[in-house]
Amino acid sequence: MELTLEQKDIKQAAREFAEGEFKERAKEFDEKEEFDLSIWKKACENGFVGTFIKEECGGHGLGFLDHSLIAEEFWRVDPGCGQAVLSTTFGSEMIQAFGSEELKKKYLPPLVAGEAIMGFGITEPDAGSDAAGIKTKAERKNGKWVINGSKMFITNGCLADHLLVLCVTDPENPSIHKRHSAILVDTKQPGFQATKIHGKMGIRASNTAEISLIDVEAPIENLVGKPGRGFYQLMDFFNKTRNHVAAQGVGVAQGALELAIAYVKKRKAFGGTLSRLQGIQFVIAEMATRIEAARGLYWRAAYTVDKGSPDSALISMAKWNAGDTAVEVVNKALQLHGGYGYIAEYDIQRFYRDAKIVEIYEGSKEVEKAIIGSELLKRA
Ligand SMILES: Cc1cc2nc3c(=O)[nH]c(=O)nc-3n(C[C@H](O)[C@H](O)[C@H](O)COP(=O)(O)OP(=O)(O)OC[C@H]3O[C@@H](n4cnc5c(N)ncnc54)[C@H](O)[C@@H]3O)c2cc1C
Repeated sequence: MELTLEQKDIKQAAREFAEGEFKERAKEFDEKEEFDLSIWKKACENGFVGTFIKEECGGHGLGFLDHSLIAEEFWRVDPGCGQAVLSTTFGSEMIQAFGSEELKKKYLPPLVAGEAIMGFGITEPDAGSDAAGIKTKAERKNGKWVINGSKMFITNGCLADHLLVLCVTDPENPSIHKRHSAILVDTKQPGFQATKIHGKMGIRASNTAEISLIDVEAPIENLVGKPGRGFYQLMDFFNKTRNHVAAQGVGVAQGALELAIAYVKKRKAFGGTLSRLQGIQFVIAEMATRIEAARGLYWRAAYTVDKGSPDSALISMAKWNAGDTAVEVVNKALQLHGGYGYIAEYDIQRFYRDAKIVEIYEGSKEVEKAIIGSELLKRA
């Protein structure tokens, strides 16, 4: 599979933006667990945010592969900054696919224009992989939704203007998968509280929060899609966003490979540079081959989404494999840096910490394997 000329241009432009706008400040953001939102605004002005949002909703009408190509390039330079910029539309995929025209017209354009940030609260303190087991409740009272519950590990929780919240709206439904709905909540509503989580292992430039919702009100029309269809909408949502996470894994692995190559070319040992040793070249070959394979897989998986027939098994393969690749490659890259990697080389240390998240969020690697296995057995 080959990228189109336009896609190659998007990739190159994203690379230049990341190198010019956040490469030099990545260490500072990681140390401070903060990000400079003027960089996000600039990314919006340059057309990198919400590329998949349709033109009539203020977006660029591009595909999910295009969005993933930008993620790969941003993560190649710095995963935390890449996440801080591109996660600002997280949840809009569901609004675009299932929301009313009013919701789309009202909430999507500001995300592309750099005027609003959103997030999506699915995970709870007692329900992560088991998304259907969430407890946050939304009840209809006096012509409004009244929401009570808590959400855990929510990206942009402290920054978001709006949070899409997965709630139980039909607790008595005999099917556990027909009890949920996604409701868009204004974070300025009384009863909404976000508490920043400090001390994450990686992607520390990205905001993560715990959310408490106590009698938070939302208009009835803020329910996205059909009542009781939230779980199925979530599966559609993940088919789109998991490609994006796969691209993140390829990006962090590519960045680590490049750091390792630069290091072994300058490090002296045994009368020359490390790069002259065949044992070292073998490691570089293994890293590069895994990255190319992971890249090809996520391109193919994203292509199934863009042509309108998402292949959930292929998408889960792309995500699981990219996470596995990322973790293996950063480990090898740090090893190639030797003691300097462990002690002094901040960039490779940061990549080592950042890569692990690809195996955890939006479906852990075990969840991805469960999807692949059950899907293939169903088809057989
Ligand atoms: C930095 C960060 C950002 C995040 N952002 C968001 C966000 O914006 N919105 C949101 O809703 N969530 C977010 N999450 C939450 C994330 O999606 C969950 O952490 C993830 O889904 C795993 O859930 P859990 O942590 O509860 O682990 P658990 O579900 O408790 O799982 C623990 C371990 O058991 C394994 N396991 C679970 N079930 C099975 C099984 N059936 N078979 C085999 N193994 C199994 C898991 O794979 C995992 O390894 C974020 C998490 C992090 C760390």
